[in-house]
Amino acid sequence: MSNFPDFEIDDKWILSQRGGKNPVGPFIPYNYFIEKECTVSGTVGDFSTILLTNSECPFRCLMCDLWKNTTDKPVPEGAIPEQIKYALSKLPLTEHLKLYNSGSFFDTRAITKNDYKKIASLVKNFETIIVESHPAFINKNTLLFRDLIKPKLQVAIGLETVHPEVLQKLNKKMNLADFKHSVRFLSSNGISSRAFILLRPPFLSESEGVSWAKKSIHYAFRAGVTSCTVIPVRSGNGALDALAAGNYFEQPDIRSLEEVIEYGIELNEGLVFSDLWDIDSFSSCNKCLEKRKKQLLKMNLNQIIYPEIGCSCEGIAIS
Ligand code: SF4
Ligand SMILES: [Zn+2]
Repeated sequence: MSNFPDFEIDDKWILSQRGGKNPVGPFIPYNYFIEKECTVSGTVGDFSTILLTNSECPFRCLMCDLWKNTTDKPVPEGAIPEQIKYALSKLPLTEHLKLYNSGSFFDTRAITKNDYKKIASLVKNFETIIVESHPAFINKNTLLFRDLIKPKLQVAIGLETVHPEVLQKLNKKMNLADFKHSVRFLSSNGISSRAFILLRPPFLSESEGVSWAKKSIHYAFRAGVTSCTVIPVRSGNGALDALAAGNYFEQPDIRSLEEVIEYGIELNEGLVFSDLWDIDSFSSCNKCLEKRKKQLLKMNLNQIIYPEIGCSCEGIAIS
């Protein structure tokens, strides 16, 4: 049974749980690296991934920790192209690019339309570019950007969960119809989409977390996305730590992530990835963790299911 607190989870409560931000500058991205991922053609591609330093997202989602690396004020015009230029000068050449800005790429308070042309010129040698956006910002600006760039555009949207009460409690101010509408708008305009899906958001037991993540993958593919990335929910943003202290949240287990990814790959409706960031924190077994990490990475790259990893921890029930 889902377990909900009797207090209101709103912007005010979420903000009151936060700690401090990390120091960031408007002209340097806060991180950039290369990651490998399976592409739509089935081959493994290198993705330059740039985590842009941007102003804080106007939404205050319960599980979000991206605010930690944001500025309090909007970054000046020209800062985002400068950051992209900086990161690309440090990274080797790749075919694919992810530009994540801790919010919505098409929120014009975060990235001004005046920067689109400069960005387009910086990304002209890539085959694909992936950006992220809340449905509230997927509109004619998305089409304007699509028309200016040479690479094929993909937009990642946080579906998070199809559990209706949990989705509402996440304070994302989005419903399933908004998600579906955005995916349809994108695909009718020749733009592909991917869904971010949470594994075990607050208020759910481990088995409910697994079951709702599977339902969410199914829903996202039915809505028309071409890939899903499953994100195990981690504490550390203040709000989730407070909920954990009240027994409303517990981090999922790496074995649940395996189960959900296997389900998604078996569906055979599109690409299914696990977010492996900080993956060590989702296992308490040092006998099998390394093997499980390697296997999840192989699943990300090859989109096939491997034999189960046997370990004595299998007998230990997950709550
Ligand atoms: S919309 Fe995305 S970036 Fe904004 S608060 Fe929610 S999860 Fe974070
Ligand atoms: Zn183990």
